[in-house]
Amino acid sequence: MKIDSWLNERLDIAKEAGVHRNLRSMNGAPVPERNIDGENQTVWSSNNYLGLASDRRLIDAAQTALQQFGTGSSGSRLTTGNSVWHEKLEKKIASFKRTEAALLFSSGYLANVGVLSSLPEKEDVILSDQLNHASIIDGCRLSKADTVVYRHIDMNDLENKLNETQRYQRRFIVTDGVFSMDGTIVPLDQIISLAKRYHAFVVVDDAHATGVLGDSGRGTSEYFGVYPDIVIGTLSKAVGTEGGFAAGSAVFIDFLLNHARTFIFQTAIPPASCAAAHEAFNIRTSLMNMGYVVKGDHTPIIPVVIGDAHKTVLFAEKLQGKGIFAPAIRPPTVAPGESRIRITITSDHSTGDIDHLLQTFHSIGKELHII
Ligand code: PLP
Repeated sequence: MKIDSWLNERLDIAKEAGVHRNLRSMNGAPVPERNIDGENQTVWSSNNYLGLASDRRLIDAAQTALQQFGTGSSGSRLTTGNSVWHEKLEKKIASFKRTEAALLFSSGYLANVGVLSSLPEKEDVILSDQLNHASIIDGCRLSKADTVVYRHIDMNDLENKLNETQRYQRRFIVTDGVFSMDGTIVPLDQIISLAKRYHAFVVVDDAHATGVLGDSGRGTSEYFGVYPDIVIGTLSKAVGTEGGFAAGSAVFIDFLLNHARTFIFQTAIPPASCAAAHEAFNIRTSLMNMGYVVKGDHTPIIPVVIGDAHKTVLFAEKLQGKGIFAPAIRPPTVAPGESRIRITITSDHSTGDIDHLLQTFHSIGKELHII
């Protein structure tokens, strides 16, 4: 059998289920008004929550570092890839997250995989929220520890699972801070009090909470006024650049540097990206110092559940026909029957944009007999 005919059969299954994916070609900076596949669209699905990915100050910081440090880092951090910008950024992240130390990874995905595959041992168990991000799931799969999944933010179920797992040496509760496809906020205060009662460690992935939740945007810890053992995050969303991080005690960071394979065996992100991210944290702090309230009590993620995958694709196509770009989110990203349009509001959208979005959702919803 030729490889293509076998793969086509597998692709056909995805097409029949309405979950086949393809790439969209974007021409220009990551601002809401964009040319996509040759058409002008307003983007409503970006994670660039604070509009920093096209901010002049970040571009200037990256350009200066680019001139001095070149385009690539040339090696892993432990060989030839470490630079003063990596170290400056790690210090900045640790102080922003109020932890002793932080370690950069090439992405948030690799931070989750690196931490979860290295930290828990064979005689341990990971308790993982049912809707955790794919990178947490993959980290659990690579871990030598067992994984037990609890129902989405269901504290009774988590407590039952904590009771049922007493035989393990150590227990790690792992959760998203803000769930990427639902916009729900984890009740971190309750998780931490359960963890204290049952002697478990808490690992929070603050990918969508960093820069968004809490009075100064420090994430779910600040929002609830509590401190988990480990915070993971990404620079690719509100921070407007790329790369991931883990933050916690200095000993934990030393451990990761020596054990996390996605740190040890990967080329460091370019110093220019670190310089841009460093500038993003500076901007945030100076806005707060000026007296602005930089926060969002609610998350910018607004999931509109349509249900059927085919209908959701049709909905997204009709939106695109009206100049609104918000692609269909389908399984396996979300559960079957829960396909949705995931709207994200960023600081770059205007009230006029929001009015147009609402009117369009109303008319398409009526046309497709959804509302
Ligand atoms: N964790 C969550 C909750 C996410 O939504 C994402 C998004 O992509 C990641 C981790 C991965 O971050 P990155 O894009 O930096 O790999």
